[in-house]
Amino acid sequence: TLFPGDLSGNPMQRQTPKAVFSTVEIAGFENPELIIFNEKLAIEIGLEKMGNQTDEDFLNAKSLPSGMKTYATAYAGHQFGNWAGQLGDGRAIFAGEIKNAQGENTEIQWKGAGATPYSRHADGRAVLRSSVREYLMSEAMYHLGIPTTRALSLSVSGEQVVRDMLYDGNAAYEKGAVMTRTAPSFLRLGHFELLSAQGENQTLQQLADFAIENYFPEIHSTGPEKYAEFFKAVADRTADMIVKWYRVGFVHGVMNTDNMSILGLTIDYGPFSFLDEYDLNFTPNTTDLPGRRYAFGNQAKIAQWNLWQLANALFPLIKDEKKLEKTLNDFNTDFWIRHDEMMARKFGLDKLQQGDDELFTKAQQLMQDLEIDYTLFFKQLEAYSENVDFKIHFKEVFYSKTTEEQFEKFGEFLSLYLSRLAKNSISKTESLMIMKETNPKFILRNYLLFECINELNEGKKELLNKLLTALENPYQEIYPEFSVKRPPQYDGQTGCSTLSCSS
Ligand code: AMP
Ligand code: MG
Ligand code: MG
Repeated sequence: TLFPGDLSGNPMQRQTPKAVFSTVEIAGFENPELIIFNEKLAIEIGLEKMGNQTDEDFLNAKSLPSGMKTYATAYAGHQFGNWAGQLGDGRAIFAGEIKNAQGENTEIQWKGAGATPYSRHADGRAVLRSSVREYLMSEAMYHLGIPTTRALSLSVSGEQVVRDMLYDGNAAYEKGAVMTRTAPSFLRLGHFELLSAQGENQTLQQLADFAIENYFPEIHSTGPEKYAEFFKAVADRTADMIVKWYRVGFVHGVMNTDNMSILGLTIDYGPFSFLDEYDLNFTPNTTDLPGRRYAFGNQAKIAQWNLWQLANALFPLIKDEKKLEKTLNDFNTDFWIRHDEMMARKFGLDKLQQGDDELFTKAQQLMQDLEIDYTLFFKQLEAYSENVDFKIHFKEVFYSKTTEEQFEKFGEFLSLYLSRLAKNSISKTESLMIMKETNPKFILRNYLLFECINELNEGKKELLNKLLTALENPYQEIYPEFSVKRPPQYDGQTGCSTLSCSS
């Protein structure tokens, strides 16, 4: 035999020098079934309401409307700090781009619609579990006000897909799925890294020009300065995104440079998680142990490291080390300023005052040491005043038993906080309003996703529908049963707080 081993489902893999994309056909699933359609998003981006079977077949990756040409793009990346060479859209296929009435362009792609020339050894498929997670989480992030790619539809593909299940080590079949997702652009840091690594400086420049013209119209400079400003703008958007992740306690879990958007969008939802208990060392990614490179508390540092890789990639266009270094250093300063401003809002402070950073550090230390639920802490803080017994008021935020000594520290912090609030130049009502628009009441906790997926596998959609409603209104408390800490049966590594990379 010419090809020993099973090549089924895999087109022959190849490197694609001098190309930024390859045309590729979708899988053409036989018996797919649409389970969620985001009509509001469809209309927003310039699609119409779902009408006929052709629409549904399109979303399901069953067949294409006539004339549509589909493609996958080539990119590279640094994975876990190591150069990984060419990667590319291995399980994402582009349907193209649509313009809405306001003239805004949106790219649409399927995830899980089949293998591409960039699939390497993998199958180009996605499983229901990870697709539900991405659908719900990207929408949750959007409604929280965090820059993100969005989810347009979710379908069961009708195929069974082989994946290693998490803890038994055996290969197991899972329900296959396909989703469609959207973004103004899916360009990643890795797209630029690939062209740069291949020494294709002309194409690199073309790609940068394309990105600047379409997504950074505020840049008017020419020559090397243009690309230096582009780099600065990417750093700026990245800082903004990471600050917002810290606001809600989001851990991405796989911040490889191929999973970082040029537009500062949260992209490629894998083994992500919201924090339950505050923990700077928490990584939801089992592949990230024991190093914890992508732990909650490392995300700003890693974003900066990733931007450094982009700086290297863009160097041939900028040729000014000092300038790039300055932007990288500014990223750090800038991030911390914005971070502290964000924390001030979480605590309902009017503006940053001397000593506020120490207050934040104290709070973080307490939340870390006493295993306090990040979201519930701020919820209870909003409703706290010195007239209440704090031990009762905060009773439900701790994941471990609190000693007298720890309670004492907690009480000291609360007094410190109240005296700082008293120095606000804004009214109590205003302060509370800031807190309420900064601190979510609903976060899409991993255990909820886990339960939702279990229900879906049994053909039930009740929790899914509730979660869809709750995540659209994260600053309200629509379902009180979601405003509790993670139930004890989900403590530790139970398959719902940690996941592997390929999830
Ligand atoms: P990720 O860790 O999901 O960001 O993926 C890293 C790289 O592996 C990207 O190039 C993906 O397109 C590719 N990849 C991940 N899963 C699959 C899959 N099931 N089939 C094909 N390519 C995949
Ligand atoms: Mg990826
Ligand atoms: Mg802990």
